[in-house]
Parts: sequence; structure tokens; C-alpha cells
Amino acid sequence: MHDDRKLIENRLRRAMRDRIKPALYGARAPLTVQVWHAPGEPVDFADAVANDFVPSQVGEKWGRAWATSWFRFTGQVPADFDGKPAEVLIDLWHSGDGPGFSAEGLAYTLDGQPLKALNPFNGYLPIAGCYTGADAVDPTSPDALGMGGINGKPSANAKGGATVDFYVEAAANPTIMENGFNPTQRGDWDTAGDRLMYELHAADIALVNVDVYELYHDLEVLGGLMAELPLELPRRWEILTAIGSALDALDYADVPATAAAARAELADVLAKPAYASAHQISGVGHAHIDSAWLWPLRETVRKVARTVSNVTALAADNPGFVFAFSSAQQHAWMKEHKPKVWAKLKQAVADGVIIPVGGMWVESDTNMPGGEAMARQFVHGKRFFLEEYGIETDEAWLPDSFGYSGALPQIVRLSNTSNFLTQKISWNQTNKFPHHTFSWEGIDGTRVFTHFPSADTYNGSFSAKELAYAASNYQDKGSGNRSLLPFGYGDGGGGPSREMLARAKRTADLEGSTKVTIERQDEFFAKARADLPEPAVWAGELYLELHRGTYTSQAKTKQGNRRSESLLREAELWCTAAMLAGKADYPYADMDRLWKVVLLHQFHDILPGSSIHWVHREAEETYAKVAAELENIIGSAQRALAGEGDKQLVFNATPHVRDGVPAMGAAVATPAATPSTIDVKGECFVLDNGLVRAIVDENGLLISVVDLDANREALSGPANLLQLHPDTPNLWDAWDVDKFYRNKVTDLTGTDSIDVVDDTLVVTRSFGSSTVKQTISVPAGSKRVEVSTTVDWHETEKFLKVAFPLDIRAERSAAETQFGHVFRPTHTNTSWEAAKFEVCAHRFVHVEEPGFGAAVVNDSTYGHDITRDTDDDGVTTTTIRLSLLRAPRFPDPVTDQGEHTLRYALVVGADVIDAVAEGFRINLPARTVTGGNEVAPLVSVDNPNVVVSAVKPADDESGDIVVRVYEAAGGRANAVLDPGFSVTAVHETDLLERPTEERTLVDGTVELALRPFQILTLRFTR
Ligand SMILES: [Zn+2]
Repeated sequence: MHDDRKLIENRLRRAMRDRIKPALYGARAPLTVQVWHAPGEPVDFADAVANDFVPSQVGEKWGRAWATSWFRFTGQVPADFDGKPAEVLIDLWHSGDGPGFSAEGLAYTLDGQPLKALNPFNGYLPIAGCYTGADAVDPTSPDALGMGGINGKPSANAKGGATVDFYVEAAANPTIMENGFNPTQRGDWDTAGDRLMYELHAADIALVNVDVYELYHDLEVLGGLMAELPLELPRRWEILTAIGSALDALDYADVPATAAAARAELADVLAKPAYASAHQISGVGHAHIDSAWLWPLRETVRKVARTVSNVTALAADNPGFVFAFSSAQQHAWMKEHKPKVWAKLKQAVADGVIIPVGGMWVESDTNMPGGEAMARQFVHGKRFFLEEYGIETDEAWLPDSFGYSGALPQIVRLSNTSNFLTQKISWNQTNKFPHHTFSWEGIDGTRVFTHFPSADTYNGSFSAKELAYAASNYQDKGSGNRSLLPFGYGDGGGGPSREMLARAKRTADLEGSTKVTIERQDEFFAKARADLPEPAVWAGELYLELHRGTYTSQAKTKQGNRRSESLLREAELWCTAAMLAGKADYPYADMDRLWKVVLLHQFHDILPGSSIHWVHREAEETYAKVAAELENIIGSAQRALAGEGDKQLVFNATPHVRDGVPAMGAAVATPAATPSTIDVKGECFVLDNGLVRAIVDENGLLISVVDLDANREALSGPANLLQLHPDTPNLWDAWDVDKFYRNKVTDLTGTDSIDVVDDTLVVTRSFGSSTVKQTISVPAGSKRVEVSTTVDWHETEKFLKVAFPLDIRAERSAAETQFGHVFRPTHTNTSWEAAKFEVCAHRFVHVEEPGFGAAVVNDSTYGHDITRDTDDDGVTTTTIRLSLLRAPRFPDPVTDQGEHTLRYALVVGADVIDAVAEGFRINLPARTVTGGNEVAPLVSVDNPNVVVSAVKPADDESGDIVVRVYEAAGGRANAVLDPGFSVTAVHETDLLERPTEERTLVDGTVELALRPFQILTLRFTR
């Protein structure tokens, strides 16, 4: 047979583009346009429509970056439209990117009921919802939105003569990535410029040619499937022949009249059932809405309102459609700011259309949040869904966060959550992850059932290419044959469209295609668990081999997070103590609010530093307010506890004794036996406190740090060495550091001055356009060399590191993560280890060989690298470097510019528990309060390996006290926990403080037996 394949494929392409798509709509009746351009930030509906609107028209430009224009559209349905399918078409943009990345609109009825959003590729409005006057239909009823059709068919029948009158709130969100990753000034109101970016391109009532709509989707699905099938397969040729016949049946001169006949030619090939072994896709509607990213937080509130309105409009017309909606914060925004959307949202949840998922306050980063914060993400997220909807979520839903800490499985399970979902590891630069459905084992041994959608996306569309890829890419063939596909426009919101549902309907059971079922995520998880009763196991962190710069970019945002976490601990601790002492009420509402602010800023584009300038500018302002408020709360609790008197009371918020002051108590500190001194010896400075002796040379570098107890030199080379690298990643500037950055390095050894100031040494340097001042000390009573580094940073595209080469042969490093630490090999034997050339650590990195260890602790830094070197004699040494600052220019062109103060310390002769203690210590500076009353420890534990993570009153305000501990050394630990208050009962609870098991009190204390890295939450009844 002659091969006409290319000919027919080209014929299809041309027909779709030039004949069928243009025939989707018939006659149009233009609407009259009026507009009010809001002068500044967004205002509410009532305030907006009270303004004077002026005449406008199609073709008129609108929208400087970030501004809002309110349009009013009016018109009358022509008499000859009566009884025919019609809808309203608004094209606000006529330029720009896809949904969520350029202009976006939300249509409202005249009384302010949200109707549906307008996005690129989704510019229609249900006509019945736009009627007003005597023709008005209640826009919350399915009839108004549902157009009388099924499965997304645009088929509301127009009412001839009816009046159409509605508003559109049009947000002129600029496209930030229009020049790839090149710097842009568009990321803040003041720098974005006044150019009008958008143009009203269409505003019509239009007749819909339903048969053409259906034909378009028949051909799109079959044409797409055909292209994915092997040429050897008869099915491919049978589809080709049917498409040829359909195009023969279509009269290009009258497409609407002949579309049905063309469809008839396709009916047989569309009706053939899928192969029995076809891959099964569970499609769940979704809209990834970044809580801030290339737009400020305030815009996300509107993005959520638009997306929810789209979802409820689509659901009205599509029984069985379900939508997974994560992030309690986004739901809470509707409750707080958009009551009418909130009412729709609550109804949709009650109807089972919108399914709250994820159980977290936001889809946070999971590398950097501390243990308590990670736990509270689940506490506040799950509690919101329970309180507002009575729904307990059962999956962690983190499709887009930049890697997943090894502590998560335990945290997820302790929040009473069974399943875990992401797909981000598909972005790995180097290694292909070997599973899509597996059991993920955390650092403590807890396992959680985990799925990665094999389409490698959370913005699914059911395109033939995507479906075929989901099947071929699925890594657990033979064990399972099923994957989840969250579908809908996302990142900037938007959500599912009727076109996606049209594809899903046709691929439900279609020969050659994967089988698509629209169903809830929990239905998917139940089936996947049944398919894989013994899934493969992946142990340890899910490290993302990409976006490694996010541990460092936007240093002030990161510092704000760390500082806030520490202050929240202190505030909970001292306010609990003051409450128990009867000296103050606990500030429940303030603490709840402040926690939620901090949790919001852990969102996976805020804390990682990958947002526009607007977002990070506001984050810094917000963290400053949070700190001021918490300082006040802490100060008044401590003053209440200290009472009247003249003792210099040191409040020790750390879980370890410090300077003679008990853990989590307040007392007069015991001065160290030996003070710290500085001697000048030749060109060197010797800092000595009797425990550690450090030598700083004429270049201001540490050239020796001796642990005097062990009589052991800790350094293998000049330390506290600042190193500057070029930092020009190929893509994703704020996110990525590519490994070639290490090919060039400049050691910053030149000094401007070295001065002894009291018992510290102050070194200043300048380089490029920047200056640095370092204050070096060996505080009395400690084995610490402490450095406070103030950098006035005016470099761009540079990576500033500080190196500590250690004379230690460490096979692996231990980096603190939530409630424990993660080991990573120091070698690069395989591509998996080599890919971890930049890693995240919280307060410490610890390395050791048998008999001797050291740690580097910090108060603001997350990015690190740990490498090893071996000299010609086989002596192996280990270098820990902290990543202090970067200066990418996209998406924030002035990232990290300005002054930063970062503190870190080298601790020598340290085991991992010393590292834990010093990590707490540098983040929780002692506070001295003058008063009369020492404060007995709120809680004591007799084993330093068992660390108290939080002490707080139960969130239900019952007066119960919650104490959370974890095993910090990575071994088994027995301990006795002694609450410093009288108790009548104690229960083990989940993270939400719900009792799971009663524990025995022995003389008011609790005996603990913890497994490695176990987290245990206890609830004490007083
Ligand atoms: Zn995202």
C-alpha cells in the first residue's frame, strides 16, 4: 500500500488550525465596555464598583505592571441567538504567557458574586451567570454556571433579549520570565515601570458550535494518540484512515453543518477499548498555586479566589469532577479576605468536589524548616481542615518543594498521615530515581507510602504525549501499573479546564492509550497500596539534584526564619513557665498568629529565596515585626518570672546546662574557671581559654586550633578562610549553583586591619566592592572558636564561602535536620554522592574519626559543602565550608545586596551531642534579666541525648502541658523526664496533641525508652 501517512498528518494539522478551531464560535454580539483603573493596590469589589467608570473599548490598552483595572461589560443577547448555545468571551490580554503568568481576571455579578476567572486559554464565561435584571439567575446555583451540558460541553442556551451586565477585576500581573533568567525590574511596584502591558482584545456574546467543539477534541485526542503509537502497530494506521475519512466528510465551507458527519467517521476508532494491561491514570484536578513567587503574597489571595471560582464553575457542569486543594493558608485567606469565595469553597468541600489535601499550612520547603516548624506545618494545616471542614487529610502533598528531608516520614506519620506525594525528584540533574511508588524510610526508620506521578508533572493536561510518557516512564512496572496525575494549569494557579476534561473523557477507555479515571487522590492511594503490598524501600533523604543554591539565596529571609524559630521556642517556653507560676496568662492568640506567619514564609519559593524582590522585601519587614513582637512577649514573661530583686539571672532556653544554669531554667551563671586571653606572638595572635588555643596569623586566618584536653591540633590548613567563587548557573539563577562554580576560587587573604578589642580579635578586609569585618573569640569555658562576620556585600553572581579544613579523616558528615541529623558520605564514589556537592544543614555539621570530632555551628546558614582530601602520604583531611552569601540577579536583581551579620563557630573535641548543644547555644543567646527569683527548670531530662524540642500549653487551651522530645544522637536512649510542675496523668500524643496512649507516671516523672531519632510528644494533665 502506498504510504500517505505524512500527507494525512499534515492535512490534520492544517484543518485543526485553520478550519476547525476558527469555527468553534459562530455569530458574535459585541459588549459595551467601561473601565475604572485603580490607582494603587487592589481594593474590594464594593470599593471598586463605587468609582466612576469611563467608556472603553476593544483595542484599548490597560494595565501597568501590578495594577488592577475593573471593567464593566454590558449588552443584550440578540433575539436570533434565542435557544442556541452561547457564552460570553472576554480576551483581556492578547499577549503574555499562559495562565497564571500574565493578566488574570475574575468576573463578578453586579452584586459581587464571583462567577468565574478569565485566563489565557480559558476566556469564556457561562452566559446565564452574566444575566441581570429580570433575567438574573442565582450565580451560586449550578444552573447559572452549568450550561445545561455535560462534561464541559459549552451548551447553555441563550435567552434572546436578555441583558448581560457584569464586572471583571483584571490584574495586570507582569510576565517575569519574559527574558528567560535575565534580570528584570518588573519584580516590584516601584521599579516595574508605567508601560501599559495588555490590550482588551475581545468582549462578545458568541454562539457556540457544539459539534465543532466535540469534533475538535475527537481529532485532537486521536491525532495525539496516533503520533505516540509505533508505526508497526495496526492501531496507528486505523486511526489515520479514520481521520482521513473524517476530513473527507467535513465541508470546509461549512464546518459547523458537517462536523457531526465528520465525527461519525471517528466513532468506531474512539469506541475501541483500551488494552487490558494499559497503564492506569488516576486524574485529580489540581492547581499548583505558589503562595508567593513571581508575584507578591497579596496577589496569591486573588489567585486562589480566581482558581476556586473556576473550579466551582467547571464542577457545576461536570458531575464526578474532583479537585485536590492543598495549603490550609490558602483556604484561610478565602475565609479572611473573600467571604463569597469562601462560601462557595465550603459548599464544594461539603459536596465532595474540592478535596482538602496535604495537611500542611503551606507547601513548605522541607530542607530548612527546623523540627518544631516542620511539625507545626502539619499541626496547623491539619487542624484547619479538621475545624473548618471536619476532614482529616491523609497525605502529605508537596509536588514542588526542592528536596525532602529524611526526617519527614516520621513527622508525616506522627501527624496521623499515611501517604506522601511529590514529583520534584524527576527534576534531578544527574540520577534517575528508580521508583514511582515505594516506601520511603526516614532517618529514624519510620516508613511512609510514597508516590511520584510518573508524568513528571503536577500541571497535567491529559495530552497524548503526557499520557504515553506517564506509562513508559513508570519505574515500577511488573509490581504496579498505576499513577496519579494532578491536572490543571498551575504554578500561578488557574486549575483544570473543560478541554482537559474533554481529553480525559475520551481516554477513559481507548485502545492504545493509558486509561484515565477522574478520581480522588485517596482512591488512588488505596488502589496503589493494594497493587503494591510490599513496595520497594528508599532509605534516607530525597535529595533534589538541582536548586542547591536555595539553601543560600536571600540570606536575610533565611536569617529571619532561623531567628523566628528560636524566638518562638523561647516565647513558648518562658510564657509556659510564667503561666505555670501563675504570673501571666499565656498569649494563645498571639502565638497562634505568629506561628502561622512564620509557617507561611517557609513556603517553597520564599524561604528558598527564589521569589521576586517584592516578596523578599516584605519578608524581611515581616520577620522584623515578628522578632519585635516575640522579643516583647519573651521580655514580659521573663520579667514576670524574675520578679523584684538585683540578681543577674541568666535565662537558659537551650535543652542543655549552660554556664552553670540548668536547661530551660534561670539562675545566676557560674563564671568559667579560666578567662579567655589574647597574646601577641610575633606576627600572630594567640587566643586561649584553657580549653582551646587558637592562633591567628598576620593574614587574619586561623592557622591552629588545639583542643588542649586532647592535646590535638584540629586544623589541616588555614581556617575561617573566606573564599569567593563565580556563580553563574546555566538556568534558574536564584535556585541553582552548578558544580563548575568550583573551578575558580579566590581566597580572601588580604587584610585592612587586625586589632585586639577586649578579649576578641577584629579583622577587616575588602574585596571587589565589598568589605568584611570579622570578630574572632574563644569564649571562656567552651571549646569554641566563635566568629561573627559582618559583610557589606556588593558583589553580583559570586558565591561567598568560608572554609574550615580539619585534620580529621571522616567517612561521612552529620548535618542537622529536623529532630536529628543526616549522614552523607564525604567521598564521591558514585554519581549519587557526587551530585550532593552542596547540601543543607541546620545548626551544625559534625565530622569525626574514632576518638576525635569537630563541628561547625551557625546561627543563619543552611548551605554547606563537605569534601575530603588525601595527601601523598595518605593523610586524609575533611573540609567543612559554609555558604554565606550569593548574589544571583534573577528573579530579584538585587539579591543579598547590603549588610549581613552571620555568626558561626568551630567546636573542637566535639561528639555529635556536643554539636547539638552548641547548635542550640549559638541560636539561643543567653538573656540576662535583673530580678529576685531563680526559675527552676520547666522540664528536666537526665540523658543529654534526649533533647527537649518544645514545652508549651496544649493548643486547646485546656491547661495541659505538651512536651516534645527527640533522641538526638542516633542511638537508643533511656531517660527519666521530670516535669517541673505537678501532674496527674500523662499521655503520648500525635503531633496534633491528640492522645494515643496513656503512659505511667512514676513519682510524677516519666520513664522514656527512645529508638534512634524517635520523636515523642507527651501531654501532661495538671
Ligand atoms: Zn511551586
